[in-house]
Amino acid sequence: MEAPFWRHLDAGDGVRVAFTRVEAGNLSLSAGVTDADDPAHARRAALASRRRLEATMGVPQGGLRFLHQTHSADVVDAAAASGPQPPIGDAWLSTDASAALAIMVADCLPVMFVGRVGERPMTAGAHAGRVGLLGGVLENTVAAMRTAGAQEISAWIGPGACGRCYEVPESLRAESSEGRPALASETRWGTPALDLRAEAAAVLASREVTVTDVAGCTIEDEDLFSHRRAPGRGRFAGLVWRNGHD
Ligand SMILES: [Zn+2]
Repeated sequence: MEAPFWRHLDAGDGVRVAFTRVEAGNLSLSAGVTDADDPAHARRAALASRRRLEATMGVPQGGLRFLHQTHSADVVDAAAASGPQPPIGDAWLSTDASAALAIMVADCLPVMFVGRVGERPMTAGAHAGRVGLLGGVLENTVAAMRTAGAQEISAWIGPGACGRCYEVPESLRAESSEGRPALASETRWGTPALDLRAEAAAVLASREVTVTDVAGCTIEDEDLFSHRRAPGRGRFAGLVWRNGHD
């Protein structure tokens, strides 16, 4: 039953963190759908992939929650957004870890969090690409967790475009890394690049979050969806959920 997962980790307190792979299918109802020959079929396929993933996770059908992501730095409380439409935002938290949270990506970083409120876990996830990182999506997520009472926060930085592959124009590197020096990087072939992972790790460390770098490069690893390498094929997901009562 490990097949849908690129990585699957035990975060303690019955909480799991995982990142899906291409074999789990495209999980986005829009990416991979707009370019498809038959958008309705592509959308049904994405929904079927979500149902299969939920079965593997041990989550009830329809229980895995997705955001309407817009590259913002907005953090949503999953408990306050339970309507039929996905809430709009790029990070969210489940203060009692009762919601199974997904963050969809294909080159941006999925960053999944677990904190503790007394004896109980709290979970969160963030979509951290260049725009979100610059907007402060990780700072906002950690702040929202702390406001909700979380202590001892841990974060897992999942696969994304790596600092040796994520080529950008020199002007964009200069502009983006002003005040965020960890972002500046160089490709393997010597051109300007951005290192999203280094910046994410720097932000989290500065906020006393314990970081696990799960690593992985979407541009190099065909087991992961990459918008740059293969646009329009789909999105994989970072997941954090609580399973059972152990
Ligand atoms: Zn790479």
